[in-house]
Amino acid sequence: MSDLRSLIAPVWLAAWRGVCAVVPPRGYRTLLFHDVPSPQRPVFAALVRRLLADGRLITPAQAAASPRPGGILLSFDDGFQSNLEVAETILAPLGIQALFFICPGLTQLSGAAQSAAIAANVFDGKRAAGDLRILDWDGVERLKALGQEIGSHTLDHKRLTALSPDARAEQIEGAAQAFRQRLGAVPDWFAYTFGDAWSVDAPSLAAIAALHRFCRSGVRGANHAAVSPFALRADHVELGGGDAWRRLAVEGGLDPLYRKARAHLDGLAAGLKA
Ligand SMILES: [Zn+2]
Repeated sequence: MSDLRSLIAPVWLAAWRGVCAVVPPRGYRTLLFHDVPSPQRPVFAALVRRLLADGRLITPAQAAASPRPGGILLSFDDGFQSNLEVAETILAPLGIQALFFICPGLTQLSGAAQSAAIAANVFDGKRAAGDLRILDWDGVERLKALGQEIGSHTLDHKRLTALSPDARAEQIEGAAQAFRQRLGAVPDWFAYTFGDAWSVDAPSLAAIAALHRFCRSGVRGANHAAVSPFALRADHVELGGGDAWRRLAVEGGLDPLYRKARAHLDGLAAGLKA
């Protein structure tokens, strides 16, 4: 797959840039990262420096207000320890503000219990946690003190579509309550787990919309005026892959593959009041 990608990505990127030269971008885009291990930080730093130099980066507050077309917001899911290191060593020195989606239930775990929860809930039982750690509350507060925006990513990183109504409420409302107790307020932003359009449903989005102003998915696309604030798109960016493939993700070149997913998500969010 990665060989195929590295072959087609440069051609695809050139063609996509040709399309963008004729049809200007609508709305802003949100990039989605998870753990950023040390070996990938030079690639991450180069990416954000380039976006900063191009005047593309926007803050969460700008995204919430009236984002300019072509703006790019950075977001991080799961609250890994590396998120704080990246915020301290790369984002804060450059004055960049990003969104960090945290699971309060995982933040409160430590040692083997946290490793087991990472493997079962974050990695869906598909891999072990290894030496990955989730930030504790002090780490989350440090992120906030650095000017970063904290969002909710459910209480324990459960897939909302797999839950009973009571368990779903615990994951959405229980997380909001934990944030209110610890940080003094319910976050404006929510990102549901796993991010694909079929890992959320209408009852979940309604419960999210009752407590939060925005819900970010992991479905690729631009966030323009016609997109519901509860069906926001984001582009997962692979830091370990090739540069052309990464640029395709950042520049929206993969959007045509996600039309069906966006339509499904829009259908779920239809009728929700902002
Ligand atoms: Zn996640």
